[in-house]
Amino acid sequence: MIDLEQQKAWSLQTKLVRGATARSQFGETNEAIFMTSGYVYESAEEAEQSFNGEKDRFVYSRFKNPTVDMFEKRLALIEGAEDCRATASGMAAVFAALACYLSAGDRLVASRALFGSCQYICAELLPRFGIKTEFVDGRDEAAWRKALATPAQAVFLESPSNPGLEVIDLKAVCDLAHKAGALVVVDNVFATPILQKPLTYGADVIVYSATKHIDGQGRSLGGAVLGSKAYIVDKLTPFLRHTGPSLSPFNAWVLLKGLETLELRMARHCDNALKIAHFLDGQKAVTRLLYPALPSHPQHQLAMAQMSAGGSVVAFEIAGGKSATFRALNKLKLIDISNNLGDAKSLICHPYTTTHQRLTHEQKLEVGITDGFVRLSVGLENADDLIADLGQALKA
Ligand SMILES: *Cc1c(COP(=O)(O)O)cnc(C)c1O
Repeated sequence: MIDLEQQKAWSLQTKLVRGATARSQFGETNEAIFMTSGYVYESAEEAEQSFNGEKDRFVYSRFKNPTVDMFEKRLALIEGAEDCRATASGMAAVFAALACYLSAGDRLVASRALFGSCQYICAELLPRFGIKTEFVDGRDEAAWRKALATPAQAVFLESPSNPGLEVIDLKAVCDLAHKAGALVVVDNVFATPILQKPLTYGADVIVYSATKHIDGQGRSLGGAVLGSKAYIVDKLTPFLRHTGPSLSPFNAWVLLKGLETLELRMARHCDNALKIAHFLDGQKAVTRLLYPALPSHPQHQLAMAQMSAGGSVVAFEIAGGKSATFRALNKLKLIDISNNLGDAKSLICHPYTTTHQRLTHEQKLEVGITDGFVRLSVGLENADDLIADLGQALKA
């Protein structure tokens, strides 16, 4: 077996398929699912040594599990991060990444355009524990500069954001954040580890909802947090151990299978999304169109400098407000109405009344979510079939 250190020299594709595979004594080709909550010791002495740190081994699956461990180590190899811990969902990853690091009295600066539950954690939950959150327009470097002129302990951002596809200058924000003393946590869900590497721009911690493209086939929830050994071992691991948002070994196995095909799927997602964006560009019923790989995206150049392709999500506004938009969604025959994304199946949602319904009308408008705005997660079907479906629905 080629050890983990040597696997760092592998190409991306090889890491995705084989990274950190740990074979059992049976020599299975496929990664094994270790559905076990506990582990057996040879002696009481061994149990003692396992708990006092003299011996490094599996003791309980809330702490560590062989299948989950493979997923964590493989994702760390792919991201180029020192270490990784998996969680039961993307939201468990976001919450743990911030809550393990921040304390009462600390200051968090976050971009305003966030996934609904990320916004809730920053705006509602963390402040209940004495953490002060300030939101800024993530696209505005001057706003970051102003907010980070005061010392802060953490910065949280999504780029591109869900669902408005706002792009943030990662290098500029990381530099400002570090001068303010802040740890930079990047939610990289939309870009995936295939299209964007925030660590190379100075980010400290990367979070994923593995539910999205990493599974990519709508089967299981999962999440991950990646960062330096010091952060993962000293801050995150004790938090996860004692609060318990552990990933199931079965789901870790599903996600390992997802990683094997992630690069292939992302290529098709991005090709299809670009074709659909070009098609929507000429539609009379489409009053606003956002896709990072189109020159019409307000931050096209920055997006393409940071990402190797535009991603799987196309966002657009349908003329005529909520009723016309609902009519168009209801006419779709192939594309499903669903709030998930990054799936093999194309899915569309109306953030105003679903994922972001909790925000006030004004808050929605601030991040571009009008009542005609839709988020299309482009799947792996034939692009022409998807275009035909959108064409007939928009004609109404
Ligand atoms: C879906 C999503 C999450 C939450 O992930 P879950 O796996 O659903 O908990 C967090 N951030 C972004 C940007 C997302 O799209």
